[in-house]
Amino acid sequence: MEQKVFVYNTLTRKKEEFKPLNAPHVGMYVCGPTVYSDAHMGNARTYISFDLIFRYLTHIGYQVRYVRNITDAGHLEGDADEGEDKISKKAKLAQLEPMEIVQKYTVGFRDVMRILNTLPPSIEPTATGHIIEQIELVKIIIKKGYAYEVNGSVYFDVEKYNQTKDYGVLNGRNLDDMLNNTRNLGGQDDKRGKLDFALWIKAKPEHLMKWPSPWGVGFPGWHLECSAMSNKYLGEQFDIHGGGIDLVPTHHTNEIAQNIACCGKNPAKYWVHTNMLTVNGQKMSKSLGNSFLPDELFTGNNTILSKAYSPMTVRFFMLQTHYSSTLDFSNDAMEASEKGFKRLMNAFALVDGLKVSAHSDVQLNEIENACYAAMNDDFNSPVLVAELFEISKIINSIYDGKTSIDAKNYEVLKNIIQHFVVDILGLKNEQAANDELPKVIDFIINLRSEAKSNMDYATSDKIRNGLQQIGFQLKDSKEGTTWSKI
Ligand SMILES: [Zn+2]
Repeated sequence: MEQKVFVYNTLTRKKEEFKPLNAPHVGMYVCGPTVYSDAHMGNARTYISFDLIFRYLTHIGYQVRYVRNITDAGHLEGDADEGEDKISKKAKLAQLEPMEIVQKYTVGFRDVMRILNTLPPSIEPTATGHIIEQIELVKIIIKKGYAYEVNGSVYFDVEKYNQTKDYGVLNGRNLDDMLNNTRNLGGQDDKRGKLDFALWIKAKPEHLMKWPSPWGVGFPGWHLECSAMSNKYLGEQFDIHGGGIDLVPTHHTNEIAQNIACCGKNPAKYWVHTNMLTVNGQKMSKSLGNSFLPDELFTGNNTILSKAYSPMTVRFFMLQTHYSSTLDFSNDAMEASEKGFKRLMNAFALVDGLKVSAHSDVQLNEIENACYAAMNDDFNSPVLVAELFEISKIINSIYDGKTSIDAKNYEVLKNIIQHFVVDILGLKNEQAANDELPKVIDFIINLRSEAKSNMDYATSDKIRNGLQQIGFQLKDSKEGTTWSKI
């Protein structure tokens, strides 16, 4: 591989040279969404970050198998071992089949991912599609002596495991410290140890999603599915395991324990974590009322926003911060990103029409190398974006006739834009493609107003619903009708 990539590994707490186990093949597993509600912006940030990594490793010649699961069973409220399954709860409230909930939010999640121009993963396995694999894994862990059965549920024995292995290997904490910071078991608890977690949970009669197992009817614990599916599609050990940083203390810690108990190996060589999204300096949460959905950004339909922002503006905004730093969201920051993004895209749109001269005032190889250096340094997209702003200045200067560029450097320029803007950052120029669109939508809105004034509400509704289906939302008010892209 021509490019030498360095990646920050949570496991070793160091930036390390990326050396895949079986180059040019790379195996990457990222914990996917639990499909019981709409994906929020924090989720979107995580998946845009891993999309950047997927795109870059592919660009420099690796053959990446990117596995991102869909959690459609087993994820209980509060990420705990007791309580209701998030999907079943929603299904009961809405009087729907759990699989109707799963279908609705899986489709919604994929739509948002497509709108944000993230590439689909190579494999998108579901927890319910891998119950047999999960049961097999539990059997092996019991056989190796690291799990026990109580009343039809199976628990992982953390303290036993920690006698010979290191349970806190990922978060760097020792077991006593973790035990001291965990609540005591209640009298009703089937678990032996405070940190023990469920591999298989006995289903109550009213539980909707359940399967037969050697321990009775039940369902798998949330952490188990990722161990089972990564093992199945990427093998006992693969290169990158990723997810949000909030998964480190429990979900990923337990995943590692399960894999080591079962196969003796930490499943991934590099553990990569994306940081949190904050809003106006505060942690994003539903209870603070400051969480929002991608759709609300695209429509401007949220009180913290002064207007709608396009999907590419949102993507650009996220890539302007390194994935491992917290990213603070505010309307002002979005406005600044929108301006910057437009400035870049306007400059790049000039490239095809630039005059090529016999001699060159600029040597672009150096900037191209700097772009690679940025990405090789732990996928440092903000540094790459800064290089692209330098390039936009050069383009404007050539366009104004103040700087000249020869054919060789012109080729390099075109390559930089194709590779770094389109292929790696995954940014599209929305403006160029949509120039005529507002006129067309306005024309259709006028037709609808005519239908309405003729009291032809059937046609009026048909137009509104039709536009909604292809991604345009109409808003009626006293002043008339406005529209926004969903
Ligand atoms: Zn997972």
